Amino acid sequence: MRYNLHTHTCRCHHATGEDREYVEAAIQAGIKILGFADHCPQFFPDTDYYSHFRMRPEAAEEYVANLRKLQKEYEKDIRIFVGFETEYYPKTYPKMIDFFSQLGLDYIIMGQHFIGNEYDDLTMYSSVERESKGLLKRYIFQVLEGLETGVFTYIAHPDIFNYKGDGEFYREQMGGFLRELKRLDIPVEYNLLGMKNGRNYPNPLFWELVAETGNRTVIGYDAHQPEALLDEGNYQRCLDRLRALGITPIDYDEIVLKQPKP
Ligand SMILES: [Zn+2]
Ligand SMILES: [Zn+2]
Repeated sequence: MRYNLHTHTCRCHHATGEDREYVEAAIQAGIKILGFADHCPQFFPDTDYYSHFRMRPEAAEEYVANLRKLQKEYEKDIRIFVGFETEYYPKTYPKMIDFFSQLGLDYIIMGQHFIGNEYDDLTMYSSVERESKGLLKRYIFQVLEGLETGVFTYIAHPDIFNYKGDGEFYREQMGGFLRELKRLDIPVEYNLLGMKNGRNYPNPLFWELVAETGNRTVIGYDAHQPEALLDEGNYQRCLDRLRALGITPIDYDEIVLKQPKP
């Protein structure tokens, strides 16, 4: 059964289309389960910094309400879930988790686009090319620390960190990372947007390691336009690549949607 738990909306300021258009495109594509996981608002302390590529906190209530309305309206054709894709920032995590419990979400997925806390000096965008062994280790450490909380349903583009250094070091570090993800029973996402746009992820070496480690794998469209859900060619290419690696994506009923509670 076709499913996708990684769908954005125009509220993050860099996706386009109405919520309803995503739902209708998904139905047309034969998707039976559609999860919205827009870029979560972040709760930075008093600072001039503002991230313009995510939802504003004041838009979240309407986001949930509108999707709940569509969930009911389209219930005969598709199951809709409401969540967020979010970072794990140690400094702002408690506030974010409080916010979730007020909204009544179905799940959240982790997408670690930054190392550090984003608003502070330590911040670094994960997909910038880097040779630093230390930063690769910090990415892994931060992601695992976040996932240990047990609130994340899966990890989006786990291979977003754009390491260009020593291949042997990458293999060793990512091998360890994948074994930890397996121990935590966190599925890893093969990201269709990265594939479509030729980004640094999905990283072929990383996915060889996934095949070796035997991590549970999900396919995420990471749709930022309704049409992305209709790109059958991209979806089939992804299946071909996974098949060549001997990876079978898990079925929807093997995923446990975790409700983010404090
Ligand atoms: Zn992402
Ligand atoms: Zn995304």
